[in-house]
Amino acid sequence: PEPTHRTADVVIIGAGQAGLAVAYHLARRGLESGRDVLVLDRGPGPGGAWQHRWSSLTLGGTHHLHDLPGMADTGLSFSSAPGDRPARDVVAEYYGSYEERHGIDVIRPVTVARVERAGDRYRVLAATGSAVSSVEARVVVSATGTWTSPRTPFMPGRDLYRGLQVTTAAYTGAAPFAGLRVGVVGGGTSALTFLDEVGDVASEVLWFTRRNPTFHDEEVELSAERGRVAVAIQDEAARAGRPLPSIVSVTGLPRSPLVRRLEAAGRLERRPMFAEMTLTGVITREDVEIPLDAVIWATGFRPEIAHLRPLGVVNDAGGIVVEDGRVPGEPGLFLAGYGPQASTISSNRAARVTAKAIAEVLGR
Ligand code: FAD
Repeated sequence: PEPTHRTADVVIIGAGQAGLAVAYHLARRGLESGRDVLVLDRGPGPGGAWQHRWSSLTLGGTHHLHDLPGMADTGLSFSSAPGDRPARDVVAEYYGSYEERHGIDVIRPVTVARVERAGDRYRVLAATGSAVSSVEARVVVSATGTWTSPRTPFMPGRDLYRGLQVTTAAYTGAAPFAGLRVGVVGGGTSALTFLDEVGDVASEVLWFTRRNPTFHDEEVELSAERGRVAVAIQDEAARAGRPLPSIVSVTGLPRSPLVRRLEAAGRLERRPMFAEMTLTGVITREDVEIPLDAVIWATGFRPEIAHLRPLGVVNDAGGIVVEDGRVPGEPGLFLAGYGPQASTISSNRAARVTAKAIAEVLGR
């Protein structure tokens, strides 16, 4: 197919909570979606990364999902939705209604491969199957989340290993692990979920983490304070252009019903991270070989920023300097949902500030 070219004032890459909230606040400032603002997303439907998460992750099993701005009078709210439904279905329906209600016209499935400079504008190159399109815009908002960029540690021998390996992003449920000896790697909530679900069907499940996870008995006030500290640490790393630390490494894990269930079942016996992989298993730092049929890498995610590399803003460490959602020296480039904005609350507040700054760049 022939490549197509368009122009717009703003291109938003990503229609998760961060991208949608920016689109909403731009619309309130009179920038029309589909004309002034183009929202591109690689997913087949609404829901951001949530549409890809495993079906046994129920709404009640998530930490907390905050409502998006402009939904208060609709009666549609995450807090009143049934907790036993898959989060991916609830979020997809909610975001779908959001797009409809606020006239946010998301163009999908479109994958943005690169953002380049084009004079005083940006050129966004995207693909839908074999069809290539480009959009020139004065402002680019990258709201691409982390789901498409799972982080796994360097591990000698990993290429040799012949067992099953999946990352959190590729996990679809416990069934493929039935009867297997499984290693779960990682110290966050996803790892705990896999210990629980896979532990029910596997012949054995072993837990490996680099650090000894800290559990705490959460109280509301403490939790708010931990949240503030986590945001501050993310903000500091973003401003310095360092790769972002994981949230759990900052906040620790709450002693949730899931944690108590795992403790009661004796499934929280943590082993130190192994040193090497072999054809059939792993080797500990004490040189003991442990056979494993499968390894689940629940080792977190990095921000998806590969498409911004052509602009020269991604440093050798894979980080990017982001101050209040903006990249210094790039007045038209915004990152929504990045680092300190990743939690839903900050993402809503940040979207309003971002929309105001975009209007200033556009002189509107
Ligand atoms: P996303 O929801 O990831 O949206 C980004 C969008 O960008 C996607 O739709 C994607 O298709 C699109 N995209 C990416 N790259 C491209 C590209 N190159 N071209 C075009 N489109 C692209 N947060 C909470 O607040 N509460 C929770 O309970 C919670 N639970 C979580 C559970 C798991 C297992 C994980 C991994 C994360 C969880 N989070 C939770 C954090 C969660 O990532 C965020 O809440 C939310 O998904 C981030 O929204 P976002 O808009 O930044 O990104």
